[in-house]
Amino acid sequence: MKPLRVGLLGLGTVGRGTFHVLRRNQEVIRRRAGRGIEIAMVGVRDVARARALIGDAIPVTDQLQDIARNPEIDIVVELIGGYQPAREFVLDAIAHDKHVVTANKALLAVHGNEIFDAARKMGVMVAFEAAVGGGIPIIKALREGLTGNRIEWIAGVINGTSNFILSRMRDTGASFDAALQQAQALGYAEADPSFDINGTDAAHKIAILSAIAFGVPIRFDAAYIEGIADLAAADMRYAEQLGYRIKLLGITRLTPAGVELRVHPTLVPMQRLLANVEGAMNAVLVKGDAVGTTMYYGPGAGSEPTASAVVADLVDVTRMHTADPDDRVPHLAFQADSLMHLPWLPIEETLTSYYFRMRVADQPGVLADIARILADGRISIDALFQREPGEGENQTDVIMLTHEALERDVNVALGRIEALDTVLAPVIRIRQESLA
Ligand code: NAP
Repeated sequence: MKPLRVGLLGLGTVGRGTFHVLRRNQEVIRRRAGRGIEIAMVGVRDVARARALIGDAIPVTDQLQDIARNPEIDIVVELIGGYQPAREFVLDAIAHDKHVVTANKALLAVHGNEIFDAARKMGVMVAFEAAVGGGIPIIKALREGLTGNRIEWIAGVINGTSNFILSRMRDTGASFDAALQQAQALGYAEADPSFDINGTDAAHKIAILSAIAFGVPIRFDAAYIEGIADLAAADMRYAEQLGYRIKLLGITRLTPAGVELRVHPTLVPMQRLLANVEGAMNAVLVKGDAVGTTMYYGPGAGSEPTASAVVADLVDVTRMHTADPDDRVPHLAFQADSLMHLPWLPIEETLTSYYFRMRVADQPGVLADIARILADGRISIDALFQREPGEGENQTDVIMLTHEALERDVNVALGRIEALDTVLAPVIRIRQESLA
């Protein structure tokens, strides 16, 4: 089957990420989507710069309406941002019978109802997973995974820049202005960060989530919005002393009287997971009546994390063209005819780090024997301590952490260690995963 042809509007942070992910993962994407997805045309303002980035193989234009109207293009991906001319290009693409994928939360928060109406009339899809929570698949979770629930409320750390600034203020005692400058120096905040710090960006996102959660039109205009610019480091300290952290939360809640929709700095009990979402990370907590509380955590921005969501939308749209309409998503995510047969590894082939506890005689030379056996087995020690034996005790525990080692080598080494006269019991081993 011919690949689906994408017109990419914008080759900035997310556009470039999308370009690279589609190219790097084209084979795995094709096996999931049932059809290749290729970028057929790119639209930007600065054509020369775009050419320098992606070469000459793909046509680049500064006439973006030509992409939206091009009959050869199946899907338009809008990654230019802002309200205008993004709105115009998206509506134009829809009017020309094209599906649209966008990461533009500002556009959807303000013009989403109009855009979705147009798409419904034309029978095309508008997909926007990347618009909220960057790489976190929160839209899909809400729209599909939690569809059996009555959603009661959503609360999220959904602006990485402001969260980074708050983390800095707390950790270093910096003022808001100093923390903002650090965020800009490290590339976490844009040259004009006003939407991030005044709460508008978080309000765009929570307005979209609110509509999906409660089955209402998007009402960004109904949001109460308060940013973080007036927060003092002293408030962060006092909140900590009381057992709280201050987070900029987007909150929406369905009450008998109506819908709450608000963004403001919020005291969150320190032991809550949401209070421990630090730096540029995002997290969204959703309360459903059946499932209870679930949380979705991950990178809320960045080139390839956001591209991950854009490409997921592209695969969704492509599957509409490839799949049996009653069975749109393949059972195992990949098309049935493209499953692979890979070897399954036995545990002996696993590479991981370990915690060992060894019950040993308290006498000289024991540790040296153990260390030699581990070195023979290419197992290097990361940390080690020995419990001080109690009064009159002649045995003790040796505790160690290792660097990564092959389970097969560990089995051999532990067998030799357990055979030593000075090792008095089977070694306790617990595998360790840094999950970094
Ligand atoms: P960006 O780096 O500023 O890139 C914007 C791109 O769009 C550039 O290639 C620019 O072309 C082009 N462009 C802008 N206005 C244009 C116009 N009027 N005509 C033609 N081309 C135009 O933006 P981004 O960070 O990738 O963000 C793109 C979208 O993704 C936004 O809606 C943003 O809110 C959303 N988003 C971003 C992130 C993130 O981590 N950055 C995360 C989630 C969602 P030139 O360079 O030639 O001017």
